[in-house]
Amino acid sequence: MTDIQGDDLIEIARSEADKTDRSAKRRKAELKLTGRKLSYEDMPPKMLSAVRDKITGKIYIGKSGKPYPEKLHLEIETRKPDKSLTPWPIRNCSEIKACNNALQSRKHSKMEDLEIATVILRNGKLKERCENCKMTTAGATVFTDGDIPK
Ligand SMILES: [Zn+2]
Repeated sequence: MTDIQGDDLIEIARSEADKTDRSAKRRKAELKLTGRKLSYEDMPPKMLSAVRDKITGKIYIGKSGKPYPEKLHLEIETRKPDKSLTPWPIRNCSEIKACNNALQSRKHSKMEDLEIATVILRNGKLKERCENCKMTTAGATVFTDGDIPK
């Protein structure tokens, strides 16, 4: 083990990603046996984020894709761009879903209280935030942006 900051949160994200990937593969194999077609819900998410609330130590997992959160916390609402800067909607991202859950779970929570680690589901590689998320999660501590030797 190294002592890179956020290593433990990255490990949690990777282990959750692996679990999700394996259960999606199992589901796919089951469907194939029964000759049923894959629906959107059977497809594995592309990204997975682990978010830790520094105040409580609680971990929140978010997976990209539908269903989207219906209501966004004010901390997200006030930061997000007016229009999505990417081909996908702002609410699609695993970071947003995990941060939204974390923020809604505690009164007076702030974006600055959160730590974020995001990985690509199928291979566990670290994932930099998209342009939307860089704005929307501004102030949070992010362990998986930029050149991290991993
Ligand atoms: Zn994003």
